Amino acid sequence: MKDVIRKLAELQKGYDKIDEGDKGIKNNKDISILNKIKKEFQELKLRYIEKKNELEKVKNSSADLSNQIEIQKEDLLKLEDKLYKDCGSDLKMISKCEKEILNYKETINNEENEYFSLMEKEDILSKEKDELKAEIVNLKQKFDDYKTEASLRLAESKMKIEEGKQIVESLEKEIPDEVLNIYNSLKRQKNNPIVLVKKNVCLGCKIKLPKMTITKLNEGKEIIYCDNCGRMIYLPEK
Ligand SMILES: [Zn+2]
Repeated sequence: MKDVIRKLAELQKGYDKIDEGDKGIKNNKDISILNKIKKEFQELKLRYIEKKNELEKVKNSSADLSNQIEIQKEDLLKLEDKLYKDCGSDLKMISKCEKEILNYKETINNEENEYFSLMEKEDILSKEKDELKAEIVNLKQKFDDYKTEASLRLAESKMKIEEGKQIVESLEKEIPDEVLNIYNSLKRQKNNPIVLVKKNVCLGCKIKLPKMTITKLNEGKEIIYCDNCGRMIYLPEK
């Protein structure tokens, strides 16, 4: 009978393995975590595109402004030329020309200031864009690493189930039908129908067993059940 009990305990281990694998799959949070990373990734990507567009706009404005400044500088040169060549001693014309030159210079000066602040903005945006890009690369790496780990975890759970099934299948052939029937009917009520006894305590219900039961257990002639919870009980191998 000791041999049958040992096999039942092994059978239980097989079922435990299947349960462990099932739990690993059911309680798996990997997919929701991966989806969360994916969402974060999409949001970062959108922010990156926005930043890129903003940068593009600033670049275009500064290019336009730079062209405008060049044209105005040429106009200014023409005006200055006019002042020396065409105004002669016509004071009215000279004063008009000088006024116009001053206006031009002021406008150009303002535009140049604006141009520099655009350049500064461009620098900042460019830096921010690069930072977002680095964040995206990091997050992608994090996603890939996590995905690899997750598929390993899944494979491990599946393997546990497979191993458990094989243990159950092969032991079921070795255990006498009448014993197996008792085990299976107990299993319908309790997940662990066979448990160890340690220091005279049933590890299924944690209740101390009577001396009589322990004596019978030591004899090993028959299947012994816990007086309290009704599980099959067995002693650790010496
Ligand atoms: Zn018990």
